[in-house]
Amino acid sequence: MSNHQRVVVVGGGVSGLVTAYLLARDGGPGVDVVLLEASERLGGKILTQDVAGHPVDMGPDALLVRLPAMRALLEDLDLTGAIVAPGASGAFIWSRARLRPLPPSTLFGIPQKLLPLLRSGLLSPLGVARAALDLVLPRTRTSDDPSVGELVRPRFGAQVFERLVDPMLGGVHAGRADELSAQSSVPEIAALARRSRSIYLGSRSMRRGSTASGPALVTLEGGLTRLVETLVGRLDGCDVRLGAQVTGLRRDGAARDADALDGGGPGGYVVELAGGEELAADTVVLATPAYVAADLLARVAPDAAVAAREVPYADVASLTLVYPRDAVTHGLDGTGFLVPPEEGLLLVGCSWLPAKWPHLTDPSSVLIRAMVGRHGDDRFASMDDDTLVAQVHRELVQTMGMSAAPTSAHVQRWPRAMPQYTVGHRRRLERIDHALTDVPGIQVTGAAFGGVGIASCVARAQRTAAALTTDVDSAVASSKGPA
Ligand SMILES: Cc1cc2nc3c(=O)[nH]c(=O)nc-3n(C[C@H](O)[C@H](O)[C@H](O)COP(=O)(O)OP(=O)(O)OC[C@H]3O[C@@H](n4cnc5c(N)ncnc54)[C@H](O)[C@@H]3O)c2cc1C
Repeated sequence: MSNHQRVVVVGGGVSGLVTAYLLARDGGPGVDVVLLEASERLGGKILTQDVAGHPVDMGPDALLVRLPAMRALLEDLDLTGAIVAPGASGAFIWSRARLRPLPPSTLFGIPQKLLPLLRSGLLSPLGVARAALDLVLPRTRTSDDPSVGELVRPRFGAQVFERLVDPMLGGVHAGRADELSAQSSVPEIAALARRSRSIYLGSRSMRRGSTASGPALVTLEGGLTRLVETLVGRLDGCDVRLGAQVTGLRRDGAARDADALDGGGPGGYVVELAGGEELAADTVVLATPAYVAADLLARVAPDAAVAAREVPYADVASLTLVYPRDAVTHGLDGTGFLVPPEEGLLLVGCSWLPAKWPHLTDPSSVLIRAMVGRHGDDRFASMDDDTLVAQVHRELVQTMGMSAAPTSAHVQRWPRAMPQYTVGHRRRLERIDHALTDVPGIQVTGAAFGGVGIASCVARAQRTAAALTTDVDSAVASSKGPA
């Protein structure tokens, strides 16, 4: 057996890039890392483009630096000097024909203080009184894996659910709170509900105990592509191939001994590429969306494939509209606003870029980023770009009072982009893990599996790389035989 181990990472989004970087860095000389990316660029959903001379993110635009894994990666990559903090705090909710301030002190929309909730006017006085019932209601009995709605409605009532929690989860997950699993999508709330009879009291004491300081969400000068470029710059010795779409994966016991494929050393798997090329691999990391992982697992781990295919996805699009400065009558005194589904708009959320990210301020124009699409609402998908821009502009006139049309607009569509951690998600992941225990040398990582945000993808990629480094070390050691 060769003392070289080849790890093939499939997918060059942030999950695949971080996995490949850590394997190349920590795996030692015995590990060859190959990164295969189907498209012609790296970064996946991370994409920064020039809009009116500014680097605007078309996919994610914020990093959750409160998560230690994210902070540690930025430090490791020497990127802390490039961090840009938000220029504004607070946001709004479009509700009953007005933009109303999102009350400060909420946890995914769950109020942690009642007075600001009352003052915001977001809820009727009766709605606030109903929310306060959480303080006295007996513990709510729920199913083993309740939806967010199943946890929140009985405790806080319909208004908190519809005007705060549902739009918040639309903004973060492009999902609906009645479908999303509480323990998988908002584990903090699920844990509070388990621990404390009153979620309100539990979250207040959690808030008091928090030592977090500084902004939770930041961006990078030049946009989040900077993270991708820096990671790529650290992939020394890693074989990165673009336009390399993986179409299949199979076991190849014979290849172990034959060393026949591609001259690349023995492998327990054969990675099949579009165009017919095949690559031997000892270990394969699938860092793709779950539906791609499902296709690739079909022959080697059919049960894992079935479970991965069950993860639903939402189509979304981000639009960046450039308005002349004097067309914007709103004060932009916050980072933007969210829209509850009940309002019927295409808009799910809107970021006021000069307020949110100061480096995107322009003396003559105002950049507005609009998000459309959430699970169960893909009305935008059947509109062409011009129709979509016109409709979003109409909605910005309605919500923000724009007094003139945008001078330009950029539309970025993201089909099947946002994995939905619906009720049953944890069970699905357990089935995948269980099925993969019988298939050594195959790992799945990425947004479908351990958290949808970049920070969670980074944390999961770190765990994936650490587990593989240990496995590969022992494989290399055993290939050298007894010392
Ligand atoms: C509009 C939008 C806004 C978002 N906002 C935020 C935000 O502000 N903050 C945040 O933290 N997160 C945000 N997210 C979520 C975050 O962007 C993603 O969860 C994260 O980038 C996913 O990274 P990934 O590497 O797991 O997957 P991806 O980025 O999807 O990468 C997967 C890669 O696999 C490649 N691939 C697919 N099939 C194959 C194949 N057969 N062979 C080879 N390669 C293949 C793809 O081309 C792609 O490059 C947002 C997402 C979207 C869409």
